[in-house]
Amino acid sequence: MRITIFIIVLCIVLALLMLRLFLLSNRPLINQDAFFAFNIPSEDVVAIYSLSNKYDMDFATILSIYLLDNDFYVLQETPKEQLEQKYFMNFDEAKKRHPRRLVRKCQVFLRQIFYEIQYFPIRKEHDYVFENTWGAERTYGGRRTHQGTDIIATENIPGLIEVISMTDGIVKNIGWNERGGWRVGIETKNGNYYYYAHLHSYANIQKGDTVAAGQVLGLMGNTGYGPEGTTGEFCVHLHVGIEVIWRGDFAWINPYPFLRFTEQLREE
Ligand SMILES: [Zn+2]
Repeated sequence: MRITIFIIVLCIVLALLMLRLFLLSNRPLINQDAFFAFNIPSEDVVAIYSLSNKYDMDFATILSIYLLDNDFYVLQETPKEQLEQKYFMNFDEAKKRHPRRLVRKCQVFLRQIFYEIQYFPIRKEHDYVFENTWGAERTYGGRRTHQGTDIIATENIPGLIEVISMTDGIVKNIGWNERGGWRVGIETKNGNYYYYAHLHSYANIQKGDTVAAGQVLGLMGNTGYGPEGTTGEFCVHLHVGIEVIWRGDFAWINPYPFLRFTEQLREE
């Protein structure tokens, strides 16, 4: 009799444990929209990067904790001393604020992107501007939102500025696309996709070619928004898109903070 009760209790405990594991594995861990919008000041990213070097700590781990602390949304730059105090001098407390596997998930992802981007797509000597326009409205081809960053040439002349590959990779797509004009898409070894659109012309590259970070892909232009060869529907600019694999699916992420980060490091 006792043994029977014991077995029943054991079964109930096991069932509850399995239910808990099942619920945990299905719970959405990260607010994906907020994560991919990446609304954080690039100054904070650069400060965390330089502090990580100073303290010899893992940049991607600290950045993940910072993002989780702020629900992936920070409006204003944080004073560097505050970041140092909160994340580097009190790291043991900081890492306890979130489940380890959550930090790890963000960390693995961020590390991949931050380390595969090696170049800003435009060289330092050129004049350009860019802003965070993630999610801004676009109407060509139906109402939709902007899923990239536009780097706008100050001088509105197509064919003047070289567009260089931010990463190593393989040319996955090249040729005309109605929205993107003459576009090229580079796939990295991690399976992420870097999309460069509205080019004026291409360098000597073809589908399937291997390209190195820093290699010229073509010249900045104003092509797209119409049948093949359409130009001048907007000012000369480069549209940069980054598509990542997330939970087995493709998703665009906001390139802006990554571009700013790469640009600022380039100027150091
Ligand atoms: Zn764009």
